[in-house]
Amino acid sequence: MDTYVNTVMSNLSKINYGQDEFYQATKEVIDSLKPLLKAQEKYRKFRILERMIIPERTLMFRTVWVDDNGDMQVNVGYRVEFNSAIGPYKGGLRFHPTVNLSIIKFLGFEQIFKNALTGLNIGGAKGGSNFDPKGKSDNEVMRFCQSFMNELYRHIGETRDVPAGDIGVGGRELGFMFGQYKKLTGSFEGVLTGKGLNWGGSLARTEATGYGSVYFAQEMYDKQGGDLEDKICTVSGAGNVAIYTIEKLYELGAKPVTCSDSRGFIYDKEGIDLRVLKRLKEIKRASLEEYVKEHPHAIYTPTSKYPSGRNQIWDIHCDAAFPSATQNELNLEDAKALYKNGCRCVCEGANMPSTLDAVNFFLSKNDMLYGPAKAANAGGVATSQLEMAQNASMQKWSFDKVDRKLRDIMKNIFETAYETSEEFKDPGNLVMGANIAGFRKVADAMIDQGTV
Ligand code: NAP
Repeated sequence: MDTYVNTVMSNLSKINYGQDEFYQATKEVIDSLKPLLKAQEKYRKFRILERMIIPERTLMFRTVWVDDNGDMQVNVGYRVEFNSAIGPYKGGLRFHPTVNLSIIKFLGFEQIFKNALTGLNIGGAKGGSNFDPKGKSDNEVMRFCQSFMNELYRHIGETRDVPAGDIGVGGRELGFMFGQYKKLTGSFEGVLTGKGLNWGGSLARTEATGYGSVYFAQEMYDKQGGDLEDKICTVSGAGNVAIYTIEKLYELGAKPVTCSDSRGFIYDKEGIDLRVLKRLKEIKRASLEEYVKEHPHAIYTPTSKYPSGRNQIWDIHCDAAFPSATQNELNLEDAKALYKNGCRCVCEGANMPSTLDAVNFFLSKNDMLYGPAKAANAGGVATSQLEMAQNASMQKWSFDKVDRKLRDIMKNIFETAYETSEEFKDPGNLVMGANIAGFRKVADAMIDQGTV
């Protein structure tokens, strides 16, 4: 088995030279699939692994727009349509200067398994651009989004490929892209999710990823006979996922004491003031540094003061940690610091926030609950699918109805991952459970559909 897996990985690194994040994501999945591949000859016979690691289609396109000074700007656009065996391609768009093909491919690959785990019929994709919305005027963002959609519209559609938001893509960007899609096609359809509430969006979609991550943590505690009440929690990020993680943690009686952005982090031992955080990040788009103006007792630490090779937010004492900013924001040293300071639960709101050795460290500790991203943050895409269902049936469900469904979906994801980890004799290893459960669903569909 090891020889087969090593050959697949070695070919993968040759074909995708320099795509480190993509390699990391595939390695994590493929290593944890070994018990399944050993037990079931058919996946090797139909060469499912070799097929699954190559996207069905990779689009890269030029995106040109004019800034407020009248100067021409050039960015790269991406859409990687990875796998459509169980449904139309689905996955977010990320606008961030660090975006490259490796990042989009790792996200698209993860999305295949995440989407399968939701129990809903959605395939995996991801897209985006190295465009940075930060510091741009609304008009500049609009011109970029229109240019991006001038190419993307040919490849998407409500039963074909349905993008959503991710880092740097929120309601404003989705609105501009939806408007341009409608202008180009003349069709008002559910081609994007995360839409505004007055033009086809779903209640509770904004909250879904963060709420879902906390529901997942609660399921992990339940299984152990504990709960989140009174737990001190550290949260990284200050965007969509982090804000609604903090909101739900308060609702369940926990105390979130940190949040962070790309410039630094806040430690407020009284508990993060959610009203101030929302105002700073959702309305003013300001730096977190401003938080201390209203709460002088809170401590702001800029990234320039972090110890070398470390993310200092993980030094704060906590019972549970919710990395919710970006990939590889928690390494082995951070993982050890968390554990040493008493943290016994890590629940990933961001995609691949922990490095491989950090993941292995968590898995090696019997008293640690570890919720991997593709299970713990699947609430966002699941609720996107609920938005698609409402659009297709011309219905609008109440917040409570969507939230109840989200809660049930997160419970199901946890149970599926847990039961699969038991089936393969490593109970509680949710990395293995989530990867095998997601893989099996997609792989069996690929086998049914023949050599396509
Ligand atoms: P967002 O609203 O754009 O917020 C991202 C947050 O992370 C911001 O606070 C940002 O800081 C910070 N950040 C971004 N890049 C960073 C970097 N290189 N170093 C440090 N901090 C950084 O995005 P989001 O939707 O919350 O997404 C956060 C994570 O969750 C991503 O990994 C995303 O893929 C994942 N996710 C999102 C969803 C969803 O529904 N939105 C669903 C599943 C998974 P600044 O404010 O300074 O930019």
